[in-house]
This record gives sequence, C-alpha cells and structure tokens, in this order.
Amino acid sequence: MRLDYITIFPDWFAPLSLSLPGRAIESGLLSIAVHDLRDWTHDRHRTVDDTPYGGGAGMVLKPEPWGEALDAVLASSDAATLVVPTPSGRPFTQALARELATREHLVWACGRYEGIDQRVLDHAAGRPDVVEVVEVSLGDYVLNGGEVAALAITEAVVRLLPGFMGNAASLVEESHEDGLLEYPVYTKPASWRGLDVPDVLRSGDHARIAAWRHRQQVERTAARRPDLLPASQARHEWEVVPAV
Ligand code: SAM
Repeated sequence: MRLDYITIFPDWFAPLSLSLPGRAIESGLLSIAVHDLRDWTHDRHRTVDDTPYGGGAGMVLKPEPWGEALDAVLASSDAATLVVPTPSGRPFTQALARELATREHLVWACGRYEGIDQRVLDHAAGRPDVVEVVEVSLGDYVLNGGEVAALAITEAVVRLLPGFMGNAASLVEESHEDGLLEYPVYTKPASWRGLDVPDVLRSGDHARIAAWRHRQQVERTAARRPDLLPASQARHEWEVVPAV
C-alpha cells in the first residue's frame, strides 16, 4: 500500500518509521511519503493560509498550494483515495478501516486552523476517475489538526493488511471485529494483589473457555456499548451461550 501525507507539519509523521509500520516499510509492504504543503507555495513567506470569506475567527488553508500538491501526488497514481480528516466526516469505524485497507493508494490531506478551502475537496470529488474522496471523523470532538487523526486511522488500516501483523490470528478476536467488544484478558501470575484469574481460563477446557469469553463479550458490550448490540442479537446471544 502506498501512503502520501500532505501536511504543514511533516515531522508529525516520524513515528511511522517505528515499530510495526517501520518494519512494514522495510519489508516493502508499505511505501510512505510525507509532503510539506509549503513546498507548493510561491511567495517568500511560504503562505498556506488566509482569512475566511464572510468573516469569522481563524484562518483557512488556501486552495492553490493544495491544488498543486494534489496534482503532483495524484499524477503518479492510477487509483488513489483522498482521505480528509475532518470533524464533519464519516465516523471512523472498524468497518471503514477494513474498507480503506482494500485500497492501493491513500493520500491524506491534513487540515489545520479552520480547515481547508472547500473548493479543494469539491474539485477532487469532481474527478472520480482520478481520485475517490473520503472525509473521515475520528470522533465528535475537535483536534488541532488532521495529523493525529491521520496517524490513528493509518494505524487501524495498515494493521489489517495481510502480512502486517506477526500473528494474523490476533486480528480475528479483537474488539469490533465481530461487532462486540473483546473479552477481558489475563496473563501470569494466576493471583495478583488478591485478584485471581477466572478458574475457567486455567481449566484447559477450550469449549468452556470459548463459551465464557463469548458471554463476557456480550455482557461487556451490553454494559458499555449497548448501541453496538441490536436487541435481536442480544436475545440470540443470551439464548445460545450456556452459562459457565
Ligand atoms: N473548524 C473546524 C470545524 O469546526 O469542523 C475544525 C478545524 S480543526 C481546529 C483543524 C483540523 O483538525 C481539521 O481541518 C481536521 O483536519 C482536523 N480535525 C479536527 N478534529 C477532527 C476530528 N474529530 N476528526 C478528524 N479530523 C479532525
């Protein structure tokens, strides 16, 4: 997968060279380029922002550098998806992560200040043969810039790529993969500060362990995120899972 980030803070993406993404770059699974938006400015001050039409607080990222940046990055791509982090975007979910993980080339437009001039997104959206535009929100809150959102979304996406995780099996049982939160996990020692690991997990009975874990998933999801659990599914799960 190819990843291009356009930002006014290129240093923000240094962590991508660490840990698993770093290894994926070395192995050729990921190819990453970080571009400074200011490289597409033409004035002495390398200006990327201006005051908003209509008045109001803050500054808006100017369309011209974005237009040139996207022209340059998209010129060498057959099938790019432009990911635009914004609080007005489609809420980011595991399902969207899975969708983005199928793309070959993700280009990230990281906003700052009051955001990017709307015409940049409208222009890109008007060229569906060149690029698909996906506006994504990390959540119902406001960050200072798109970089943190781009990093978080990137991490959720690239770990789904075949070959990215050392042990692909660990992906299967994670929260949100089957619509439920994950069951609680424990490791050694069996007793710690007066708290014991549930006996069933030390029983060696794989069927009982699976049933216990599933019940924990359903209980935890019902308690913490009932919105994830349609009533019909909840009824069904409780009926089929035997008590342990
Ligand atoms: N004025 C904008 C609004 O109210 O929607 C917020 C601008 S915010 C200060 C600057 C940039 O941070 C945005 O352009 C976007 O790239 C990023 N950002 C902020 N919150 C975000 C969120 N919840 N999800 C994704 N990106 C976000």
